[in-house]
Amino acid sequence: MSPKEISKKVVILGSGPAGLTAAIYASRAQLEPLVIDGPQPGGQLTITTEVENYPGFKNGIMGPILMDEFREQAIRFGTEIINTWIDRVDLSQRPFTLYGKESQDAEEVTTVIKADTLVISTGASAKWLGIPGEEPVPEGLGGNGVSACATCDGFFFRSKPIVVVGGGDTAMEEALFLTKFASKVTLIHRRDDFRASKIMADRVKNHEKIEILWNTEVTAIHGSKETGVESITISNRQTGETSEYPTQGVFVAIGHKPNTDLFKGVLDMDDVGYLITEGKTMRTNIPGVFACGDAQDAYYRQAVTAAGTGCMAAIDAERFLAEHSSEVEVSTATQW
Ligand code: NDP
Repeated sequence: MSPKEISKKVVILGSGPAGLTAAIYASRAQLEPLVIDGPQPGGQLTITTEVENYPGFKNGIMGPILMDEFREQAIRFGTEIINTWIDRVDLSQRPFTLYGKESQDAEEVTTVIKADTLVISTGASAKWLGIPGEEPVPEGLGGNGVSACATCDGFFFRSKPIVVVGGGDTAMEEALFLTKFASKVTLIHRRDDFRASKIMADRVKNHEKIEILWNTEVTAIHGSKETGVESITISNRQTGETSEYPTQGVFVAIGHKPNTDLFKGVLDMDDVGYLITEGKTMRTNIPGVFACGDAQDAYYRQAVTAAGTGCMAAIDAERFLAEHSSEVEVSTATQW
């Protein structure tokens, strides 16, 4: 069967706060954008609990509910949203071409998307420690006691002792959330000072159910398919002492990596993979391609800043289209 073809003035890859804000702005500018959901529609806020720092919600709002609101607001103004796995893009000429498949493992291209402008809002994914036992099942215990999402998996650890690894705000948030379920939470951090904001760090330090192991690294996770996680090997970075630490769950919360592999060698990015944008704009090195949210922000990485850059990317795309309107009309007439 030949692939379905879609042509759009604005295509937005990713549907977190950045992508959906870009969609709200582009659709209100009558550009009828297409949003392509990634593997995690709604982005990272869909796997978080309460968001207390998004302006406008004085009592906080649950992350998934906030993202539903974003989505409905975008659809209300004419945004189309599809779910397809994009594994190849051709940005060598305009309109750009994106090739979509049913899933990451599928062979066949089922959707070909032509885009006059592309907004990349692919976000970031959790980083892993890269230690034995952490691999996904069946090789390791990933998904069977090892997780990077307390909101998703916390419930399975009712009355069990668990550990959280990391020293940033994510680790604090996960540890605090997990106290609702676990019998005890041990927070393991490789230094003697948290990177997290003071308010979050203080909540953790003062929580009766949380113990903190400073200057400590986790070097292996042990257990079996039948039992799940049973223990971890920990190593004190100051004394070099190594020991076994019993636990039934390991939550890894050591930061994120931008989801930009698709654009390696094509778009300018830093050593970690964050897309580089030009000055105060959201322009990448390819005219007509814009980047926003966590895919290009290694520094702030907040929902509200992601939304802000999504707005900026949409305005940049709108201006680009206005400046190149005759070119776009020609391409529409001849190639689409
Ligand atoms: P961060 O990069 O801020 O923190 C990562 C933590 O993991 C650091 O403490 C780091 O240690 C540790 N770490 C990194 N790699 C390893 C490793 N290989 N082994 C052991 N430890 C490791 O990431 P976060 O995800 O915590 O936060 C990202 C951003 O999101 C921040 O700006 C944060 O403020 C924000 N955020 C805000 C929230 C809120 O306001 N409610 C909630 C969650 C996140 P070290 O300190 O030694 O480098």
